Amino acid sequence: MLTLIQGSRYTSAKCIQCEKPARLTVEHVFPDGAGGCLTAHILCKVCNEHFGKNIDGPYLKQSVVELARNAYRIGGRRGVIPQPLGGPYKIAGPVGRSVIKLDTDFRPRIIPQVEDIEIMECGAISVTMVIDATDRKNIPTIVRSKFERFFKSERGLGLGWTQEEQERGILSTINKYMSAPDVETPIGVLSGTMEMKLDTVFLEAAKVAFELAAIEDGDVFINSTKAKHFRTLLGRVDKGRMESSMSFEEILKAFQAAPLPAGSQVFLGIQYLTGGKAYEHHVGILSGPHVIVSLFGYVYIFGDLRAYMGRSAIYTNNVVSGEVRYAKM
Ligand SMILES: [Zn+2]
Repeated sequence: MLTLIQGSRYTSAKCIQCEKPARLTVEHVFPDGAGGCLTAHILCKVCNEHFGKNIDGPYLKQSVVELARNAYRIGGRRGVIPQPLGGPYKIAGPVGRSVIKLDTDFRPRIIPQVEDIEIMECGAISVTMVIDATDRKNIPTIVRSKFERFFKSERGLGLGWTQEEQERGILSTINKYMSAPDVETPIGVLSGTMEMKLDTVFLEAAKVAFELAAIEDGDVFINSTKAKHFRTLLGRVDKGRMESSMSFEEILKAFQAAPLPAGSQVFLGIQYLTGGKAYEHHVGILSGPHVIVSLFGYVYIFGDLRAYMGRSAIYTNNVVSGEVRYAKM
């Protein structure tokens, strides 16, 4: 039923947002940083940048979106897979306080902690450090840079060590650490907070709904009062937010939209369309006058967005394979 497509066939002489006749740029309807591969030439450069900076950008920074990108290994334009729970976390362990970060695969890694150099009573110098076992190969570099800085400091110069004595001190410390036993990474409770700005996530869905209606219905939608209304609202979005005086409920009302819970009929329909993998897809459904948008399984319905009862259409975008499928009924 759904066929593979490369991009939208929609062509227009003017930008769907500012309505100026301009050279149109490629817009990713679902943001490319979130695995979106449905493209269309629908926005001028200025409007494309406005949507990118104020809608797509803030959306991609939401923890829930970063978690989804991590789960599906979506690196985005720079290929960097986000880790919203990375830390750093401070944990008390057998060798003092450790600072731990979680890597992309949620493996804990100790961030090298090199304490200040101490001068012992016997005249020797010592340094304490806690590093990750995988950093053992970096011990020579870490020790050398710490000691060289120390020997240039007032305290270091005060020792009056010759170049040879300094070098001997560095080498013996390196040897001592290279042969030091591993201690298991301390385990503790990592506590952090995940923040999700409902309005920022919603505004991305609103942008998608607007663009899908324009692609599917062309001028019939673009010239409608509903499109004009959306244009005004979307034009006002600033860094992922509407004016701070607007509550989330008021924003939903302004767009005549509602969130749909995961147990709803529509959600089950999306599950059916995506082979039970709604969370691995972005989906757009134009059903009668309504437009439904699902981003990573977060579903919103935009009531009466289309000006007329056009034919129904479905877009699915698999965020892992990048495949976009389309059907018109
Ligand atoms: Zn424009």
